[in-house]
Amino acid sequence: MTSRTLPAGAVVENVVICGSGPAGLTAALYTARANLGPLVLEGMQPGGQLTITTDVENFPGFAHGIMGPELMETMRAQVSRFGTRLELDEVVRCELDASPFVLHTSNGNTIYTRTLVIATGASAKYLGLPSETRLRGHGVSACATCDGFFFRGVEIAVVGGGDSACEEANFLTKFASTVHLLVRRDSLRASKIMQQRALQNPKIKVHWFTEVAEVLGEKEVEGLRVRDTRTGAETAWSNVKGLFLAIGHQPNSAPFVQWLPHDEVGYLLGEAGSARTQIPGVFVAGDIQDKVYRQAITAAGSGCMAAIDVERWLESQGGH
Ligand SMILES: Cc1cc2nc3c(=O)[nH]c(=O)nc-3n(C[C@H](O)[C@H](O)[C@H](O)COP(=O)(O)OP(=O)(O)OC[C@H]3O[C@@H](n4cnc5c(N)ncnc54)[C@H](O)[C@@H]3O)c2cc1C
Repeated sequence: MTSRTLPAGAVVENVVICGSGPAGLTAALYTARANLGPLVLEGMQPGGQLTITTDVENFPGFAHGIMGPELMETMRAQVSRFGTRLELDEVVRCELDASPFVLHTSNGNTIYTRTLVIATGASAKYLGLPSETRLRGHGVSACATCDGFFFRGVEIAVVGGGDSACEEANFLTKFASTVHLLVRRDSLRASKIMQQRALQNPKIKVHWFTEVAEVLGEKEVEGLRVRDTRTGAETAWSNVKGLFLAIGHQPNSAPFVQWLPHDEVGYLLGEAGSARTQIPGVFVAGDIQDKVYRQAITAAGSGCMAAIDVERWLESQGGH
């Protein structure tokens, strides 16, 4: 790769990690313990997506579960112990065409680094209703794998008409007594096989031309007010105790897509079986490159892979 000419006195980091979710902090833990002195740019959501949820029951090591914010605070304390520097700043633009790489941040800083780990995650899309925002983590969720277990024996609703909506609705029938699938139009966008599975599942009730007008309840979901998209008529459903959004995710990849291969939605594409990308020295980890598993443990696992890849890459360049 071409070498960049640096301004006099410029400090060059060994590794900068963008993102402070499970992927970023695990990459920080490993690179800090490898004496690489990582700098983490935490972004606007320090701790990542788990800070907006309540119980996490599927992260190994916590027999009785742990609250999402507490888990992330513990990870933060763990990486700080080994000297990781954490800064409340985010990358808005970068230059990855020569080494060292250049990162421009929202605080107006310019950072030079030999390696970069992009662990900026993805955000689930929501409908944007104030009642939905208020009840997130209290009956409103965008992650069936994470929260389905909390809805055993009750009626719930899933919003969406694509593959993930059908898949999540099917999965949720393992727990819920009935899954109401709310579809705004008169057809599903999902693949034929996913449609068939959903339509033939006796526990899934599809409601065509239906959208959520409001989530009812003060402290937890006590029902929904739904709207007929043709007539605008609204009906209250007091039988529904949970709402799952399955209307897609938005990867936080805007500053990087100019430089790296990505899919049509913006997920960054790394090399299969590693955290490497097509740019030597740039690595990806967590939900920014994973639209399949989207779990804290898989994000943490790929953060570990990125850190080990960083270490090996720096070694191959003559150490640090
Ligand atoms: C409501 C909810 C409940 C969930 N429950 C569970 C659960 O019970 N169990 C489970 O395993 N998983 C759960 N998940 C999924 C889990 O949270 C994610 O899979 C995981 O957090 C992904 O980790 P990540 O590090 O890749 O990204 P994220 O956690 O999304 O973190 C991304 C980080 O990147 C930062 N960032 C973004 N843009 C920039 C930028 N330009 N520069 C610098 N930093 C940036 C953000 O501030 C953030 O710190 C849940 C998700 C949600 C939304």
